[in-house]
Amino acid sequence: MAIGWLVVLLEPDFYLSGGVGGTCYFDETSFLLRDLMAVRQILQLGNPTLRVNCIPVSSFKSNELLSLTSDLRDTLYDFKFRHGFGRGIAAPQIGVTQRVIFIHVDEPVALVNPVIVKRDRKLMTLWDDCFSFPSLLVKVRRNISVKVRYQDENGKSHKLNAEGGLSELLQHEIDHINGLLAVDRAVDSKHIVFRSEYERWVRKNEKMVL
Ligand SMILES: [Zn+2]
Repeated sequence: MAIGWLVVLLEPDFYLSGGVGGTCYFDETSFLLRDLMAVRQILQLGNPTLRVNCIPVSSFKSNELLSLTSDLRDTLYDFKFRHGFGRGIAAPQIGVTQRVIFIHVDEPVALVNPVIVKRDRKLMTLWDDCFSFPSLLVKVRRNISVKVRYQDENGKSHKLNAEGGLSELLQHEIDHINGLLAVDRAVDSKHIVFRSEYERWVRKNEKMVL
């Protein structure tokens, strides 16, 4: 993606202003940028590719890997623009069964071959969602903090200590590359609900963490 850097530079305000509250804002520039992005189709719950235990990446600095992380980034930003939420995406969600995820919390980060090497025993309970079933919310338990080891696109190793929202996001995305989905983590079958019904019935009594 030749203009990838341009999209990244414009992303935070540009996308947040477009999606929050369900009101989409378009102008000529945003249409142009979105046309140039490599937005991939997001596989939906039931697609067998979402259940694959993905293979590790062994070739770094390759065009294939750079193209994959670029596509993940563009697909994430497009989803956030259209739906008003979204912080991470995993390669199998766009049909690529390799161990790569892309997140954007404070800054965009591609994590290659991420592994959770340590988990806090303390758990938090939250309502989780997913690009592969955006109409649903699932109540899950996640470790409050995790330590993750991963490689960047050049193969360099990194460690990341994550707490709270970043911790649960990484657990969600790393589950994806192991073929696991948030619905598999539901605290029980009563806590898989449509987002619309959550808004109507559950929200009054519970705080949703996304
Ligand atoms: Zn997901």
